[in-house]
Amino acid sequence: MKKYVNKMILSMFALVIGAFISTNVFAMTPTWPNDAKFDRGVSNAYYYVDGTATSYTSRINAAVDNWVDTGWGWNPIYLYPVASNYATHIDFYVSNYQQDAVLDNYTLAYAGFWDINSNRLSPAGYGPSVDYFYTEVKMNEIFDIQTSTIIHEMGHCFGLAHSTDHYSIMYPTLEGTYVTTVQKADHDTINYLYN
Ligand SMILES: [Zn+2]
Repeated sequence: MKKYVNKMILSMFALVIGAFISTNVFAMTPTWPNDAKFDRGVSNAYYYVDGTATSYTSRINAAVDNWVDTGWGWNPIYLYPVASNYATHIDFYVSNYQQDAVLDNYTLAYAGFWDINSNRLSPAGYGPSVDYFYTEVKMNEIFDIQTSTIIHEMGHCFGLAHSTDHYSIMYPTLEGTYVTTVQKADHDTINYLYN
């Protein structure tokens, strides 16, 4: 009987260790190949809302606020709004899906990645594998884009790829995403990339 109890204690201990490891080491949101990210960092970053996207200004600002203050502790992100897209980090547009290389009648939005000379760094609709200078978020004009989708696209801009975790803001589809704000794994991965 005593031996049985000892084994129980041991296996409970192993479970606790397992839980500790999975939440503290493995709970990372995937990143782009080679951990591609903003070559200028994110602590003094600028964003621009194009004339096509001004109806989304308050949702974009709410998404920015969520990345600046995720509620999961400190991260290096700080974004300022500016009135032109000169040397910005993230530019927001609304596009007509029939005139866009990536958007179609079921894609809500996507992020594009560019170097300082305005060369696109990955095929439209795909993530980059080298560090980038600026990004563009294109939102599909046929949808009412929610703040959570803007937060997701900004995650791509900062360097986060898609996650299979339904509790990550980086889950690929709105229907399968159980959260509407930045989660701890997403926040921690930003610190991993930029610190
Ligand atoms: Zn996505």
